[in-house]
Amino acid sequence: MDRRSFIKKAGVATAATAAASTLAAPAIAQGRKEMVIVSSWPRDFPGLGISAQRLAQRITDMTEGRITTKYFASGERVGGFDVFDEVASGNAQAYNSADYYWKGKHPGWAFFTSVPFGLTYTEMGAWINFLGGQQLWDELAGSFGLKCLPCGNTGVQMGGWFNKEIESADDLKGLKMRIPGLGGDVMAKVGASPVSLPGSQIYENLVSGAIDATEWVGPYNDYFMKFYEAAKYYYYPGMHEPGGFISFGMNQKWWAGLTKSEQLTIEAASLMEAELQMAENNANNATYLKKLIDEHGVKLREFNDDVYDSFGEASAEVMEETRAHSALSAKILDSFIDARKNVAGWMKLSDVGYSLKRNRVLGL
Ligand code: CA
Repeated sequence: MDRRSFIKKAGVATAATAAASTLAAPAIAQGRKEMVIVSSWPRDFPGLGISAQRLAQRITDMTEGRITTKYFASGERVGGFDVFDEVASGNAQAYNSADYYWKGKHPGWAFFTSVPFGLTYTEMGAWINFLGGQQLWDELAGSFGLKCLPCGNTGVQMGGWFNKEIESADDLKGLKMRIPGLGGDVMAKVGASPVSLPGSQIYENLVSGAIDATEWVGPYNDYFMKFYEAAKYYYYPGMHEPGGFISFGMNQKWWAGLTKSEQLTIEAASLMEAELQMAENNANNATYLKKLIDEHGVKLREFNDDVYDSFGEASAEVMEETRAHSALSAKILDSFIDARKNVAGWMKLSDVGYSLKRNRVLGL
C-alpha cells in the first residue's frame, strides 16, 4: 500500500470511528442494564459460591457498570432449584446453576452438566466449542426461553460419602443416596434409592439418617460441608460427573436485546470463570483431601472394578433411555457419543497416556 492510499484509508477509518462513537454515546448513557442473577449455591461457599459471586462482579467491572449485576445466593431471592423458572419467566435475567437439575423438564439438560461415563473438562470443551455441543445446548435452552454458557467446572468429582464400605454392587442395594442427574438414575438401576437435594439441605439429611450417602463435588468443596461427621468412607473416582459444567443461564429475550459487544463481554467473563473455577479446584483438592484425612479421620477408598462394571452397564442403559424422549434428545445423545469416541481416543494417547507414564517414572 502506498502512503497516499494508507492516509486515505486511515482517514476513512477515523471518520467511521467518530461516527460510531457519536451514535454509541447516547446508547451508553441511556442503556444501563440491570442483571439480576439468582444462584443455586450458598453465599460465600468455597468453590461454587465464590466463583458465582466473582463472575457477577466481573460482568459489572468489565462493562464499567453498563450491565450492573445484582447477585442473590440460594434462598436469598428464590430457592436453589427455583432459579430456572425465575429466569425463564423473565423475573431475573440469569442463573448460576447446574443444568442437570432440569432433567425432569427434558433429559437433554443432563448432558450439558455431566453424565455418567461422560466427558472430562478438557473433553467437554472440545464437544461444546468445536463438535456441535453449544449449538445443541442453544437449541434445547432456546425451547425454554434461555441462553446458556459454561461458567465453571468441577473437574472429575469424587464418588461420594458412604457410611459403610462398598465392596461390591450388592452393597449399593437399598442405599438412600443424594445424587442428582443421570447419575441418580444409574444408582437406581443398581438398586439404590437416589434423591435430589440442594446443597444446603444435604448435611441435615445425612446427619439425621434420612439419607445414607451423598455425593457433592470434590475435597475442596466437600470439606466445608462436614459430611465426614456422618459418613467416613470417601470414594473415588465418581462415575457420575467426570467434568461437571456449571451453567450461566440467561433469559433469551434479555440476551437477544443486548448489543454484540455486551454479549461478547458476558461470554468472555463466563468462559474466563469456567477456567478459573477449574483451576481453583485443581489447586485446592489435594490440600483439602489431606486435611479431611488428617484432621477428620476420613477413609479414602477406590471403587473396585466390580462396582465400576455395574455402573458402566447401568450408565449405558440410562443414556440410551433418553433417546426415546424426543428427536432433540436423540440428536444430543448421538452428538455426545460421537464426541466421546472421538476425543477419548485422542486423550488416551495424550493427557491420559502422558500422565500415566510421567507418574510412573517420577513415582507420583
Ligand atoms: Ca456432584
